[in-house]
Amino acid sequence: MAVSTNAFEMAQRQFDHVADLLNLDSQVREILRWPLREYHFRIPVRMDDGSIRVFQGFRVQHNDARGPNKGGIRFHPAETVDTVRALATWMTWKCAVADIPLGGGKGGVIVDPATLTDGEKERLVRGYIQSIWKNIGPRNDVPAPDVGTTPQMMGWMMDEYSRLSGEYTPGVITGKPVGGGGSLGRTEATGYGVIYTIREALKHLQMDGSKSLAAIQGFGNVAQYAAIGFIELIGGKVVCVSCWDREDRTAYTFTKEDGVDPHFLMSITDQYGSIDKAKAKDAGYKIEDGGAWISKDVDVLIPSALEGQINAETVKLIKPRVRVIAEGANGPTTPEADEVLKANGVFVIPDFLCNAGGVTVSYFEGVQNDMNYYWTKQEVLERLDTKMTQAFQSVLDMALKENVFMRDAAYMVAIARVAKAMELRGWI
Ligand code: GLU
Repeated sequence: MAVSTNAFEMAQRQFDHVADLLNLDSQVREILRWPLREYHFRIPVRMDDGSIRVFQGFRVQHNDARGPNKGGIRFHPAETVDTVRALATWMTWKCAVADIPLGGGKGGVIVDPATLTDGEKERLVRGYIQSIWKNIGPRNDVPAPDVGTTPQMMGWMMDEYSRLSGEYTPGVITGKPVGGGGSLGRTEATGYGVIYTIREALKHLQMDGSKSLAAIQGFGNVAQYAAIGFIELIGGKVVCVSCWDREDRTAYTFTKEDGVDPHFLMSITDQYGSIDKAKAKDAGYKIEDGGAWISKDVDVLIPSALEGQINAETVKLIKPRVRVIAEGANGPTTPEADEVLKANGVFVIPDFLCNAGGVTVSYFEGVQNDMNYYWTKQEVLERLDTKMTQAFQSVLDMALKENVFMRDAAYMVAIARVAKAMELRGWI
């Protein structure tokens, strides 16, 4: 089988596979295989030295049958329209599986944000909104943070949209800073959501969380709170995390066999997500190459970085002890690797179920913006837990009823909900 490294081809292959299983109507298939709309634009930005640099931006709206398009904006040097298409498509399935009344969208800019000063970053995000503001809005398309973007950047985007539209419009963007229209619990939401699904998976597999070990790829927003949650909510140990090192331009794995301390590691992580190697070494961490996380002898692997990390090659490195893979990242496992995991009986919690906590609290943020009334952190996290547990259960029920892999079951639940909404609106 050809190895696909294109994320959108991967998203379409996953979809086609389940569309075949479901014997899906050809018209429904035709609508769902491609995004409904996409915008490509160039953003000129005045740099601090007075020169102008032009950045390439995208916003892709995959499907809004169930509600406004929803999904983050990535700032990444290797961004392509195909990764944004894939991520927008996965957002449609994510919102449907989480059963929140939103569709799927995604944005991207080709840039390494670590190379920009704060002022340049602010001008770039304002420029992004100037290019796209007529095509987004609280009832139309609601962006949010993703890889390379932060709550502060969402605050600037909300401000720019409000200036252009002439109305304070917090609901145009989620993931805003708390105090600036953001929701308590949004920072923790994706990582904790990953943990709620792992808790349910361990229960289903009758595994003891307090005896389980996890290895995590990544140490960004998702990985940090997944690490904290695995230790504090599940009672297990995390033996490693990994991160991109900005200076060396490579990734490293930070390992401590008796358990990493995510709070300590966060205290020595810079604003771009690189952990200070010297301080980690002093504290007894072993620093290994970036790929080392995947071959750890653990019960749970939590890939929480970028797409395509578990592929035909790397899947061979996974130890037989691994029973659960919880996909904190979007698209971390290729279809080729899925076949191996299926054959080995590994229980995969698929990305758009596993990491739906972020968009779920984004939805809560929009609800609070509309009400102009804000919940406590406890209320937010309790509602998140209820939603994630229900989502996990509906996918597990489907997997058991149809005797299919969890990813296929998640697609079945999601496609049925989106197709139903399209039918009720008279699209098909
Ligand atoms: N970027 C996150 C995701 O991939 C969150 C999206 C959102 O909150 O809209 O799910």
